[in-house]
Amino acid sequence: MKSAALFARASKSLVGGVNSPVRAFKSVGGTPVFVKSGAGPHFTSFEGKRYIDFVGSWGPLIFGHARREIVQAASRALDLGSTFGAATVAEVELAEELKEAFPSMDLVRLTSSGTEAVMSALRVARAYTKRDLVIKFAGCYHGHADSLLVAAGSGALTLGAPDSAGVPAAWAKTTITLPYNNLEAVAKAFKKFHGKIAAVIVEPFVGNMGVVLPHDGFLEGLRALTKKNKSLLIFDEVITGFRLCYGGAQTITRIKPDLTTMGKIIGGGLPMGAYGGRKDIMSLVAPLGPVYQAGTLSGNPVAVAAGLATLRLLRKEKPYARLQQITDYLLRGIGEAIEDTRAQVQINSAGSMFTLFFCGGPICDLTMAKRADTKKYAKFFQRMLAQGIYFPPAQFEAAFVSYAHDKKDLDKTIKAARVALRGL
Ligand SMILES: *Cc1c(COP(=O)(O)O)cnc(C)c1O
Repeated sequence: MKSAALFARASKSLVGGVNSPVRAFKSVGGTPVFVKSGAGPHFTSFEGKRYIDFVGSWGPLIFGHARREIVQAASRALDLGSTFGAATVAEVELAEELKEAFPSMDLVRLTSSGTEAVMSALRVARAYTKRDLVIKFAGCYHGHADSLLVAAGSGALTLGAPDSAGVPAAWAKTTITLPYNNLEAVAKAFKKFHGKIAAVIVEPFVGNMGVVLPHDGFLEGLRALTKKNKSLLIFDEVITGFRLCYGGAQTITRIKPDLTTMGKIIGGGLPMGAYGGRKDIMSLVAPLGPVYQAGTLSGNPVAVAAGLATLRLLRKEKPYARLQQITDYLLRGIGEAIEDTRAQVQINSAGSMFTLFFCGGPICDLTMAKRADTKKYAKFFQRMLAQGIYFPPAQFEAAFVSYAHDKKDLDKTIKAARVALRGL
């Protein structure tokens, strides 16, 4: 009742009552939760109900909410002045950390969001290759830059069409959208648009159509095709960067992209993005080169302090083995509940990110993901929410396990899933 009233009030001043669309619960129905505070794996709504959180602000919170070292680092930085619009030492330290994690990067630029990082990386790729076209994959999300809000054109291998109102058709035509995991389509596009493709951008492990894994050879094939055609390969590691391991998908797969985009975890819960790559490419960015890109709050001291504290904690606590272990434990439990209830659910997972698709498997691209029954997901979501478990309020999203979740949280979640899955 109270939250319904608050949502009505919010909707009078904020567009749709929220500041980012998925928060509005449109695809699951009901009233969005308004959060008051978070601690570890939990947050508390303004009504005082506690939830076990499997969204983690959509990826950044690998240590859960309000981890002490991160909070302290950010507040210490804030005490010393919130922003200068001038160089600071901590930015250098963060850039050095990022380079150490990603040996493919010689030079780095910090931004305030993942969207900005991706938008800028594409500008650099176009400048470097002196070409206009970019290949992306259906279901991969790279932020809301105009030339990326593009759906596949009608018919195979056509230039794209706007996927949002307000995107000029001419800009959408600079993007070719292909099915993920389909190397043959990429090879054909390179043939058809020979000498015109600046870059291929990919989420190496996808989080944004729900979790979808690359087939053996897919990323290797992208590397080979881009190299052969003198295009750049851009790994969008905004989610995967420090989620799958320290150094992201490129460390796991040993594939060296030309450019990498980052965000989420590297800001420790504050606004942050970054892009980087080979020296000859990144040297095109101002002030070294002719590609203009800037930001009043880029490399903001408070965000940098939180990001640095997070990366240092990741190196110190090496959470990845435990994250894998507890995620396996959770998914084994949910898997048994799926079997026992005979619900038709396919679990996809990578490290500590996972998605329960409400359909049969396997799910390897957007067409397969779209078979999922979103009404069933909505029902599952609401039943979990009622039991104090906060899953992503949309089917085509990743859920995240944090280092702060413990066995009690996971057992409670498994038990709740057993109830929520009944009859689905
Ligand atoms: C979240 C995300 C972005 C956009 O980052 P914002 O900080 O939301 O602008 C870009 N790429 C991927 C893969 C993402 O998950």
